[in-house]
Amino acid sequence: MGDSEKSLLEPADWDAFRKEAHRALDVALDFSRDRAERAVWTPLPEHARTVDEPLPRGGESLQEVVGEVERRVLPHTLGNTHPRFWGWVNGSGTPSGIVSQLLTGAINANLGGRDHSPIYIERQLIRWMCELFDFPLDAGGLICTGTSTATLYGLAVARHRALGAASRQQGNSQSPLVAYCSAQAHVSVSKAVELMGLGSDALRPVPVLDDFSIDCSALADQIAADVEAGLQPFAVISSVGSVNTGAIDDLQQVNAICEQYRCWHHVDGAFGALISLSETLRPRLAGIEKADSLAFDFHKWMHVTYSSACLLVRDREEHLATFATAHSYLRGEQRGVAGGAPWPNDFGIDLSRGFAALGPWMLLREMGSERLGLAIERNCEQAAWLGRTVDEHPQLELLAPVSLNIVCFRYVASGVSEEQLNRLNRHLVVELQCRGIAVPSFTELHGTTAIRVCIANHRTAEADLQALVDAVPLLGEELLRAGGEPDDFAVD
Ligand SMILES: *Cc1c(COP(=O)(O)O)cnc(C)c1O
Repeated sequence: MGDSEKSLLEPADWDAFRKEAHRALDVALDFSRDRAERAVWTPLPEHARTVDEPLPRGGESLQEVVGEVERRVLPHTLGNTHPRFWGWVNGSGTPSGIVSQLLTGAINANLGGRDHSPIYIERQLIRWMCELFDFPLDAGGLICTGTSTATLYGLAVARHRALGAASRQQGNSQSPLVAYCSAQAHVSVSKAVELMGLGSDALRPVPVLDDFSIDCSALADQIAADVEAGLQPFAVISSVGSVNTGAIDDLQQVNAICEQYRCWHHVDGAFGALISLSETLRPRLAGIEKADSLAFDFHKWMHVTYSSACLLVRDREEHLATFATAHSYLRGEQRGVAGGAPWPNDFGIDLSRGFAALGPWMLLREMGSERLGLAIERNCEQAAWLGRTVDEHPQLELLAPVSLNIVCFRYVASGVSEEQLNRLNRHLVVELQCRGIAVPSFTELHGTTAIRVCIANHRTAEADLQALVDAVPLLGEELLRAGGEPDDFAVD
């Protein structure tokens, strides 16, 4: 083979490339091992925000490119791999995730379909999840980029059931479909309903109880009223681990209501569903095994490298009927590379799909489901501890019951109005973040600003949470002093 026939994109010298690749692996491992020693987050310097460089026309060495990642990216990451990151719901990754990403890169599989070994890893993973949630072992399922997508797909199957096969040709513009979720549901539910062409008005937010779970009698009343008004209720989306407070809707009651009104029951279990991995916590999900579809993330509380999530659909035929196309599903040929139908593409819309199943598959093999469940239990125990500690602290106020792994509280001081407290607590969260002390987020509960600590982090220790409890009152006092008299306090 002459030089002119060699690949333009392969290394000319494999030995040199191997050394470079090994060095890059060391960079990744060092980063993973040492991340806790640096601030959880710091405001980004200008050079990390620069996006006006011209398209690189000539190349440079891999070493130079990795060096640029070391300078420009690694020092300024979000901090979700740091023990004091409790903002939103982010997974914290695992060192072995680096290895699964390496292998994923080497295999470079397209999981849209065809007959090759990675497809069977995805099927195995889905079957394990059916086992975990007591779904039929041959349920439909798909590995997705996130719960947002999985929920969209689940609701598409629900619509298919409500309107029948003709809806694939005729759409739903003639049908007054309505769906239901709690007022605490994640925005991705509303986005899914919008994308389906129903408009967000077709999603009814149902009031919640004191524990922030859906009020099932209000749900039943709303459905009955909509039926009365000639609308067509087709789906209820319950939350297992609501995003604000970690509330878990009563799945058995929702099942009963769905059965009565022939609605599809979709569970948004983005992070909360995986408490199933814990024998202690799993009874709280009683009824999940009867849901029609379930969406959850591997990249949150199972710490799989982004992004990897899962959709399960109890009735596999209904799942297929929603997405499969004649030219793929009914190919008929089971031998050769085009065999192995139905393909993942027959359960969703992506034809080109990455090997997002390998990370969770490897992690489950390596850790075993029990150890992953224990890590989740530990986070819930830490949240309970934090809740108690906040409750006993004279300058801190717990704002919602601790249901799972989320603690919502605020700093309080006498002589400060509610409105000022809201601004103060918002400011407090931003200062905690900017000073690199810890990363909680803030949220609103019944109009009150809360410091929200979501512990989905296997690296967090009690000392990290104690550091937060110590920092908040000190910072609160400092901000109040800087703001002058409480009445003058303004931070915006
Ligand atoms: C994160 C989250 C989602 C969205 O999941 P993605 O994986 O980010 O798409 C939906 N619902 C809840 C409760 C979540 O926490």
